[in-house]
Amino acid sequence: MKIETKFSNGDKVYAVFRGREKGKRIPCRICSGTSRVKISGEKFKCPKCHGQGGGVKYNPIEWIVHNGKIIICSIHIVKNVRDPLSVVYLATCGQFYERDLFTTLKEAETKCERRNNLAQKQ
Ligand SMILES: [Zn+2]
Repeated sequence: MKIETKFSNGDKVYAVFRGREKGKRIPCRICSGTSRVKISGEKFKCPKCHGQGGGVKYNPIEWIVHNGKIIICSIHIVKNVRDPLSVVYLATCGQFYERDLFTTLKEAETKCERRNNLAQKQ
């Protein structure tokens, strides 16, 4: 079987990935984030947040361009149920599918925009 890859070992390319935004802390509305409630002068663990003081709200995960070019270290062919045949590139900062790697920053940014717009419509 002959498989052609878009990139080679040592290539410097732009990668896109789903960025994880840091969760925003939302204080509990019952205890105002103190994790305790006072009833008849006595303090109890807040029954609403179970003493956690609130919850964490995660913002939608967006596609972003990896900061700076990545260097491809090795190339793997993956065959599984979800991806009949995929090319996976290993770089120092992680692994990426071929569909997530680009030669120019412009291409990478355009792809992110498209995927994020698509995600908003759903
Ligand atoms: Zn609470």
